[in-house]
Amino acid sequence: MATDDFMNKIAPSVVEELPNNLLIVNTEGEIVFANHRIESTFGYKPSELRGKKASMLVPGYFTSMNAEKRVEYYKNPTPYTVGNGVPAVGLRKSGEEFPMEIGLSPFQTEQGTFVSVIILDITERHKTEAELVKKNELLGLAEELTQVGHWQWDTVTNEVIWSDNLYTLFHQSREEDLTYATYFSYVYEEDKEYVTEQVERIIRDKKFYDFFHRIKTGQGQIKIIHLVGKVFTNARGEVIEMIGTCQDVTKQKADEKKLAEFNQQLLDKNKELENFAYVAGHDLKEPLRTMSSVCNLLQKKYGGSFNEEGETLIDLMNSSVNRMSKLISDLLDYSQIGIDRTLVTADCQELVEAVTNDLSLAIKEAQAKIIIGKLPVIQCYRTELRLLFQNLISNALKFHKADIPPTIEISAQLVDTFWKFGVKDNGIGIDKESKTNIFKIFHRLHSYDDYQGTGIGLAHCQKIAELHGGTIWVESELEKGSTFFFTIPL
Ligand code: ADP
Repeated sequence: MATDDFMNKIAPSVVEELPNNLLIVNTEGEIVFANHRIESTFGYKPSELRGKKASMLVPGYFTSMNAEKRVEYYKNPTPYTVGNGVPAVGLRKSGEEFPMEIGLSPFQTEQGTFVSVIILDITERHKTEAELVKKNELLGLAEELTQVGHWQWDTVTNEVIWSDNLYTLFHQSREEDLTYATYFSYVYEEDKEYVTEQVERIIRDKKFYDFFHRIKTGQGQIKIIHLVGKVFTNARGEVIEMIGTCQDVTKQKADEKKLAEFNQQLLDKNKELENFAYVAGHDLKEPLRTMSSVCNLLQKKYGGSFNEEGETLIDLMNSSVNRMSKLISDLLDYSQIGIDRTLVTADCQELVEAVTNDLSLAIKEAQAKIIIGKLPVIQCYRTELRLLFQNLISNALKFHKADIPPTIEISAQLVDTFWKFGVKDNGIGIDKESKTNIFKIFHRLHSYDDYQGTGIGLAHCQKIAELHGGTIWVESELEKGSTFFFTIPL
């Protein structure tokens, strides 16, 4: 074969500069020409390939697989492209295999038939395709797990594409082509106007606002769906496509509705209870006042004629009436906490000093030491917060150990987004089991004779802390003392 002759006469220099790999092969399958580009793809210099079998550029298994076809082809070569969809496999000098696409075109010369072979290295395209397949598999898996469907709407052709989940959700058969009209036919009659408005707004603003609406499925079920999407525009800014997700939220919406109803019922019941406590408190106070007056009258009128036992019984009745009266007052206060409240800026330092001033007699009697740390200025319900401090400090004074005068420390610390206040004492402490119960109304750990009280103070404190969006708790050890903490968000 006169290779050099062929090169000089036929191959124009432009062939060298082709952006693709070019080989020219004779009917025996020998390479008679290879352009420079071949080296960057296969690693061989063109001179190394000339006169060699073209089959050296494909792996052995691939040549043997296609041997018969190749012999047949060279007998009667026709233009032919392989690798379209099923790529051929190339073999580099390094031994590395790679996907390629080959175009074959036979041509006649005075010296016989030759075939020009254009080779494309499609490694990168292959990678992208593989990634796409993987992404699609992931999307399918996500759909299966989340039950979220995907849709695509070409607003120019009106064609709609649905993922598998949407066919199931709408109970729609896969036979007919989908359009926007198909989707719209499922929209619940009463929601049609709303959906049209939403779609028009999205197209006008070129921005997808997520929205909910009802559908009537192919099997007649009413479902609520949530649509989320993205709008695509062309160079002129016109909307050409929308892509998004669609989720069946029927159950979630039903649960939300139930929860809102329960919440409302709870609020109504709470209000009712507060009203009841208020009215009952008022009504109970009336006969109590009469009892108190009768006691005083008895003592005044007949005091002298009572024996010692009679005196004791009258005293007992008097103190019971007083206790009952305090209990009712506290209950009335409890039912009124938070009513007519207004948030104000208050200096806690001043607030606590005012409380300790009010309690100065009890402080003096108990020989208590009060340490007030640096307290902040905060937004709060002033009267309520003052009551909270007063209850905690009174308790710290009251529940002190018999032989040790109380030391009470009031402090505040800024933690993230809230103030954490602490009222610490060196009193009798609280056992582990009672630490949460003491915040329940009327819950007391001691008899009235040991420590007087109504058991409402800490319930008050909890209601006030929660009114501010905070919480209250106690850390304590029996015989060592307690620290009551409460938080107030900034
Ligand atoms: P009261 O003080 O009227 O009994 P509270 O609701 O204020 O009612 O307190 C409930 C119970 O919690 C008290 O009876 C007491 O047993 C316990 N307690 C509250 N504060 C302290 C404290 N600082 N030290 C020990 N026990 C306490």
